[in-house]
Amino acid sequence: QTNEMQIEFDSKSENEGFARVAVAAFLTQLNPTVEEVADVKTAVSEAVTNSIIHGYEKKRGKIFIRCIMQEDEIVVSISDKGKGIADIKKAMEPLFTTKPELERSGMGFAFMEAFMDQVDVISEVGIGTTVTMKK
Ligand code: ATP
Ligand code: MG
Repeated sequence: QTNEMQIEFDSKSENEGFARVAVAAFLTQLNPTVEEVADVKTAVSEAVTNSIIHGYEKKRGKIFIRCIMQEDEIVVSISDKGKGIADIKKAMEPLFTTKPELERSGMGFAFMEAFMDQVDVISEVGIGTTVTMKK
C-alpha cells in the first residue's frame, strides 16, 4: 500500500542538507541500494537549492516536500511559492542558467533528469514552481 509524508521548511541554505536526509530516511523503507539513495539525494538537493536561490532569491519563503511511495516507486515533489519560471523548456536545457554571475552552471535540471526516471515541472510566474520526480 502507499505511504506518504510532507515537510515544510524555510528557504535557508542550511535546510538543504536537512531536506536531502529527510527524503533519504523516508526512502529507506523501500530497501534502496546505496546508489539509488545517492541519486534521490542529489536530485532533491538540486531542486531545493533552485527554490532557495532562484525561487525566493534574497527573500525568505517556505519550501514544501511531498513524498509518496507505492510498490517500489517513490514520487518526490518539491514546491515553492517563489517567482516562477517563464520558459520551462529553456530552463531545463543543460547549461542554461539565469544566474551565471553566481557561478551556477545550469546543470541542476540535467542532473535531476539523469538521476531520476522522470522529472516534471509545473511553474507560473509570480505564483511558484513544483518539480515532481519519480524513481
Ligand atoms: P546549477 O543548478 O548548475 O547551479 P542553475 O540552478 O542555474 O545552475 P538549473 O538548476 O538547471 O541551473 O536551473 C535552470 C534555470 O531554471 C535557473 O537558472 C533558473 O532561472 C530557473 N529555475 C530553476 N528552478 C527554479 C525555481 N524553483 N524558481 C524559479 N526559477 C527556477
Ligand atoms: Mg540549479
